[in-house]
Amino acid sequence: MNNQGKWNRREFIVKPILWAGTASVLAKTDLLLASPSLETSASPVLQRTLGKTGLSLPVVSMGVMNADVPGLLRRAYELGIRHFDTAAGYQNGRNEEMVGRVIKEMGVREKVVIATKQPSRNHSQSAAEAKVRFIEGVEGSLKRLQMDHVDILYHHAVDSVEDARAEGPLEALQSLKKDGKTRFIGLSTHKTVDVLSEAIRLNLFDVGLVMLNYTMAHDAGMLSTIERAAKSGMGIVAMKTQAGGTVKPDAKLPKELPTVSQTALLKWALNHEFVTTAIPGFSTYEHLEQDCSVARNLAYTHEEERFLADKAFAAKAEFCQQCGECRKDCPRQVDIPVLMRSHMYAVQYRNIGMAREMLASATPGRGLEACGACESCLVTCRNTVQIGRKIAQLKALPVAQLLT
Ligand code: SF4
Ligand code: SF4
Repeated sequence: MNNQGKWNRREFIVKPILWAGTASVLAKTDLLLASPSLETSASPVLQRTLGKTGLSLPVVSMGVMNADVPGLLRRAYELGIRHFDTAAGYQNGRNEEMVGRVIKEMGVREKVVIATKQPSRNHSQSAAEAKVRFIEGVEGSLKRLQMDHVDILYHHAVDSVEDARAEGPLEALQSLKKDGKTRFIGLSTHKTVDVLSEAIRLNLFDVGLVMLNYTMAHDAGMLSTIERAAKSGMGIVAMKTQAGGTVKPDAKLPKELPTVSQTALLKWALNHEFVTTAIPGFSTYEHLEQDCSVARNLAYTHEEERFLADKAFAAKAEFCQQCGECRKDCPRQVDIPVLMRSHMYAVQYRNIGMAREMLASATPGRGLEACGACESCLVTCRNTVQIGRKIAQLKALPVAQLLT
């Protein structure tokens, strides 16, 4: 079925929006909506400033990772999205190529903010070598994007304090900024507290890309760290806001979550004023429409309030927060956080390519092959993730596809 067929622009524009409680939510946004009368006019998209970069961005951006349809980017632009987030590794570079091609065809380069990411995973390199490789990687990205610069360049997947302060990538980022290859530099991380704290201390990064979703609502330490980073001047971009997407592997949840949960989850993340924008990774026109509806009004509907009041969701979502605690309890020290992310990409994002790349990034000798499939998995998760079941599901997927 053609998803585009489900989309009706007029329906979207005149969709009723509830206003209860909006003013307090929007107190610190750049734009306070003016009129509740939406019968005939659309509300403007909410904008916020990305920390010290000064960039003004709509609160909803596009994580392009899961999208392989150029029309989706075009429609996102038409709906007011101006920030597109890609990475060198997504779809082996084809994701950057698609972003570059669409932006060029549309002739809107000056009107959009393009972010890409470069990893530095080879720890055996010297600092000088790592710097050279990082710069070469970014030059490859610019070529694929057909751009002479990007707006935000992230050091990708910085998951330890040591990686955050690694000399090679840091020097490369600063040199690329000085040479005008990127306007701003940042880091993306799944280890928010440790890495963001180090980033605050280093005071070199303009932007932080961090996980934030409702399953983390109880994590005061993480929330206060992100807030502290924002107060230090870093612009905060939120990812994984919908806790892994619309498809849930848990039998206790409907296979496709209803719209209300997706919009409630996105609003929950954006109702944190320290977040400038979120990058949901929609891959259909239907999900694009849902996410864009949020960009005009962050007040919860009654149904969304009811959804968020169901505390059981956080447990059912089984979202792996990448804390790494489980790894210590595994007799083979399997890189379980990597396996859990690979599972999310394969099962929830339905992105086998990303799942394969994620598996390949596991610590050598501690990937899926190292898992001894104990009679029952010996580790337990502090966040209710059913590790053993997910590993079994991962193994049951076409392994040749995942591991080659
Ligand atoms: S599975 Fe659980 S314990 Fe392991 S890294 Fe994820 S959240 Fe942490
Ligand atoms: S089944 Fe669980 S405890 Fe056993 S090796 Fe695999 S991850 Fe470790």
